[in-house]
Amino acid sequence: MAVEQTTKADVIVIGGGMVGLASAIALRDRGLDVLLCDPGEARARTSYGNAGVVSRGSIFPMSSPALWAKLPTYLRNADRGLRLRHTHVARVLPWTAHFLAAARTSAWERAAAALVPLTSAALPEHLGLAERAGAGHLIRRCGWIKLYRTPEAFTGAALERAILARHGVAVDLLDAEAVREAEPALIRAYAHGMLLPETGAVSDPGALMEAYQQLYADLGGRSLGMVTTGLQPTEDGWQVRHAEGAVQARQVVLAAGAASGEIARGLGYRFAFAAERGYHTHYALHPDSPALTRPVLDTGAGSIVAPMGEGRVRVLSGVELNARAAPPDYVQIEAAAREAAGTLRLGANLDNRPWMGARPSTPDGLPVIGPAPRHRGLIFAFGHGHIGLSTGPITGRLVADLATGREPAIPVAPFAPQRLLGWPRRRPPQPDGAMARP
Ligand SMILES: Cc1cc2nc3c(=O)[nH]c(=O)nc-3n(C[C@H](O)[C@H](O)[C@H](O)COP(=O)(O)OP(=O)(O)OC[C@H]3O[C@@H](n4cnc5c(N)ncnc54)[C@H](O)[C@@H]3O)c2cc1C
Repeated sequence: MAVEQTTKADVIVIGGGMVGLASAIALRDRGLDVLLCDPGEARARTSYGNAGVVSRGSIFPMSSPALWAKLPTYLRNADRGLRLRHTHVARVLPWTAHFLAAARTSAWERAAAALVPLTSAALPEHLGLAERAGAGHLIRRCGWIKLYRTPEAFTGAALERAILARHGVAVDLLDAEAVREAEPALIRAYAHGMLLPETGAVSDPGALMEAYQQLYADLGGRSLGMVTTGLQPTEDGWQVRHAEGAVQARQVVLAAGAASGEIARGLGYRFAFAAERGYHTHYALHPDSPALTRPVLDTGAGSIVAPMGEGRVRVLSGVELNARAAPPDYVQIEAAAREAAGTLRLGANLDNRPWMGARPSTPDGLPVIGPAPRHRGLIFAFGHGHIGLSTGPITGRLVADLATGREPAIPVAPFAPQRLLGWPRRRPPQPDGAMARP
């Protein structure tokens, strides 16, 4: 991205991942002069390396009622889906405290209910954007499958199924034979599967991002290929500093993914916020293997395998709770790859080394979308955890609603920043009124 000469805009968006980019497009659609600030390294974005699942049913925060039973396993790093760096867990104490508080059944159910409007809008919003960007071929409405290795594991997910049913999320329950029929590429025997048909799969998230970037540029959106180093409120808006100077705007959107917590801290906001790191690596499918037709989550392995183009699959690890900038730890992705080799007929590994990214993680599994409580003209849009690829475009619409003083397309009260500032309370507070406008 080239450095822009003009230093003033209506809105500056910090962060060009799916959330920031979709916000920039939506703001441009409202006729605003938008400057998108991002260093422009595609692979540095978590939006580049995910599983590409855009599912209405992705409404379950990681902190669940099963947490207390699983805690000893988690603490021993014996769960395949979660790896803890213990010293880091202590360092993100507010996140940890909120995470434990969010494990109550009532909190889990409330969070799932709050996510339904976001996840329900995810696929239609993407399809609309993708069509405008000429990238419709990158999203297939093929569903995805959660796989259970044992009847006990399936029974353990009964509450999840009840919540999905309550919210009208379509599921097809599969027995062992139906799993084999649905995905002949699977060579492991699974006791059960749950197919969520209201799901799109992105065959190349990086290419989708590129297409949306081109759409933004075609709309006249401006970009600044710089890391933002600081934010300063001014008399009539904001000054945003970078290595080579500063830019100014009436409003700023903070959408820097897992870096957002540190940037907000510069303005005195100490969010309960962390990075959930994740990894992927690609394999060719064995030439004799049938194609894998949709992403699958093997709940027994705590990892996902997703088709990424013809004859190629992406194996993705679960969660590593560690500092964003700590050196990579490939233990989980290596284990996921071993499990995948028992699930599919894999051919050669196609990467020199695994990719690593950081999910911007809130402890209650809900994103932060809303006006900053103590500053006019600053909108927070981060913390999309496991669902930021899918819910980026609807978040962009909400950001544009907030920036232009419109009623948000869906209620943003559950995503209010206030709930994660300070220690957990019994119930999340309501936002303290409408956004202060510039
Ligand atoms: C293994 C894995 C699998 C996943 N699978 C899925 C999935 O199937 N479906 C789904 O919906 N989600 C999935 N996710 C989650 C999803 O990828 C993230 O929620 C989403 O990418 C977050 O988008 P973002 O825009 O907030 O952050 P990012 O994509 O990380 O973008 C943040 C941007 O901010 C920029 N930035 C940071 N600091 C600064 C600064 N100071 N100045 C300027 N720019 C800055 C960065 O360079 C980056 O470009 C997965 C994540 C992982 C790790």
